[in-house]
Amino acid sequence: MKIARVAVDVPLNTYFDYSAEHLGSDDVGRRALVPFGRKLVVGVIIGIADQPENSSYTLKPIKEILRDTPRLPKEILKLAHFCSGYYHHPLGQVLAMILPQRLRRTKAARALAEPCYALTDTGRALSLDDLPQRAAVKRKLLAALQAQATLARSALLQLSPSAGSALRAMQQAGWLRESAMPLSATRSSTSLPGQAAAPELNADQQTAVDAILGAPPGFTPWLLHGVTGSGKTEVYLQVIAQTLARGGQALVLVPEINLTPQLEARFQARFPDASIVSLHSNLNDSERLKHWLLAQGTSSQGAAQIVLGTRLAVFTPCANLQLIIVDEEHDSSFKQQDGMRYSARDVAVFRAKDANVPIILGSATPALETYHNALHGRYRLLELKGRAVRDAAPPTVRYLDLRREKLLEGFSAPLITAIKQRMQRGEQSLLFINRRGFAPVLLCGECGWLSGCPRCTSRLVVHLKEQRLRCHHCGHEERIPRHCPSCGNLDLAPVGQGTQRLEAALQKLFPEARILRVDRDSTRRKNALSEMLEKVHAQEIDILVGTQMLAKGHDFPKLTLVGVLNADGGLYSADFRASEHLFAQLLQVAGRAGRAADSGEVLVQTAFPDHPLFAALQHGDYAQFAQTALTEREQAGLPPFSFQAMLRAEAATLDSALRFLRSAASLAPEAKNIQVYDPVPALMARLAGNERAQLLVEARSRGALQKFLGAWMEALQAHKTRNVRWALDVDPIDT
Ligand code: ADP
Ligand code: ZN
Ligand code: ZN
Repeated sequence: MKIARVAVDVPLNTYFDYSAEHLGSDDVGRRALVPFGRKLVVGVIIGIADQPENSSYTLKPIKEILRDTPRLPKEILKLAHFCSGYYHHPLGQVLAMILPQRLRRTKAARALAEPCYALTDTGRALSLDDLPQRAAVKRKLLAALQAQATLARSALLQLSPSAGSALRAMQQAGWLRESAMPLSATRSSTSLPGQAAAPELNADQQTAVDAILGAPPGFTPWLLHGVTGSGKTEVYLQVIAQTLARGGQALVLVPEINLTPQLEARFQARFPDASIVSLHSNLNDSERLKHWLLAQGTSSQGAAQIVLGTRLAVFTPCANLQLIIVDEEHDSSFKQQDGMRYSARDVAVFRAKDANVPIILGSATPALETYHNALHGRYRLLELKGRAVRDAAPPTVRYLDLRREKLLEGFSAPLITAIKQRMQRGEQSLLFINRRGFAPVLLCGECGWLSGCPRCTSRLVVHLKEQRLRCHHCGHEERIPRHCPSCGNLDLAPVGQGTQRLEAALQKLFPEARILRVDRDSTRRKNALSEMLEKVHAQEIDILVGTQMLAKGHDFPKLTLVGVLNADGGLYSADFRASEHLFAQLLQVAGRAGRAADSGEVLVQTAFPDHPLFAALQHGDYAQFAQTALTEREQAGLPPFSFQAMLRAEAATLDSALRFLRSAASLAPEAKNIQVYDPVPALMARLAGNERAQLLVEARSRGALQKFLGAWMEALQAHKTRNVRWALDVDPIDT
């Protein structure tokens, strides 16, 4: 009898011992069905022992070891251990997060991705005429499998009510075999643009590629810094080409699902023979499982060569990982904001180091933490200075002083003139505002009532078309009131600008213009965004109005004007990272202007045209901005010059949240060089009906912080808390 140590998906930072017969050392990393309390749960075997840890009670036996999928490889278990330690999150929960949903379920534990069928050599030798006419079902199945090498059982069953028995007969006849899933989801489902040849690299790109490929094998972290359009993706592609040529596998992380189909198509066009799988939250459970398994390959099938995914994909077991790329590494969506609050970028760096492979972090506006690492030699900096396409000059940036300009429907006169010019020249304009809806708030001019969310410390946004007020934080919505709920006044006015209001204003100002609004509301429908982008490309659009959704990744050759309507919110914010985000966002939208032969113009409406951030933006100078910002951070002792953790608490009343944090603070171990701040209400103190407070801890070194947190969390876990939910956020990005 052996003992299996099993990590179970419960909020307890420990494992559980079970007895098991027939337990082999290769069962470490496998899922196991174990009794837990009164239930059966799926856990992961993390170790095998001869003696139980605690011999005072009799061990329950493992119910079943699930050997239907490959076990989690050693390096993934190590990654899970690392995350559990670093983010102070229970190992069982980390492992549960890593496993695809399907593999976490007890019922469907064996219900793997559904079986697929392919023709055997005998089957392939058959032609339709070899089957008699009356064998209609078999003929149908044969034709389908001839057309597509591998098909899922469910797809085949749809062909006829008696497909099931026909399949069985064909299998018995030796025509068919059960097969692993078809390799690439991309190749069968989307039309390909055909092979795309690699362009000749420019000097900066060549230097970057040479440096990466010429480095000694093993772990090197690279920061590839270059504005959008400077050809970073081209650099990735050439490095990946070499990885594939050596039989290696590349893991590519991107911040947004929206960007994956585009990138996937571009990768597939460059590597038509490579198998590429994507992993993101738009996949259903069985697709996700299938792709997840393909990343590591199965006994009957080689592994996918390129794994392209969002945040969670950083944990994907890979058969032969040789390269990691994190595109747009600064993007805040790499940080998980609930459960285990990990940074996929940071985890990727750890993984690359552990796997001893190179990692490329790419960005036009690196996170200041990353840039700081590059300046201090911890990462190696590669710069792409200009845009890749030679004749595309950088856009000129001008500021329109809101203190002087008179506004018409939110637009200054020079901006209106500029749009008019573009219309006359048959070019496109993009107007950027970071707020969807019609107006950010409804105001009663009589008594000063503002539409507030009953559940959050936030305003209800006016959505005029739908006649609704909506909270963008908790989803609460209600009808637009006819009169003021407070004084009865009938004259309620939307205040401020949102995308819908701009769209309406533009329609008034330019009745002949073809206007398209792109925000989360207008792109809810599946494929809506890609259809819209098509329209822009086909030049069926004159003016685009949109949020940061438009700022990323899309390339519009005819777009020569970008207008930024309201940027000032990020200049003087309570959040010390706000200016970093604002700069990144503005540089990115500015990059939309004039990406092809026509040079572009960016007009920014602001009441603070002299702000240093704008000077750096004008020169497209990230380094200048970063130097200033890093100096400020250093003076203030903020990250990356200090290391932070935030204890967040949520309760029915602010008072109990604060009380919990105060008692948590009193449990904090004595530690030098650790600053434990006073508990304060969160910036958004109320969210979805919960009151939220937070407690900041700051240290001069990561090691000191980790040591402190380890002891503190142990004390806190032992401490009874009632009616408060709390979570630790290590390296928080919103403070
Ligand atoms: P980034 O990833 O930095 O935004 P891309 O790699 O997507 O930049 O390049 C921007 C555009 O320039 C793409 O259309 C790409 O095909 C093109 N491009 C990139 N490198 C070259 C090159 N060396 N020669 C010609 N065109 C290039
Ligand atoms: Zn009123
Ligand atoms: Zn709300």
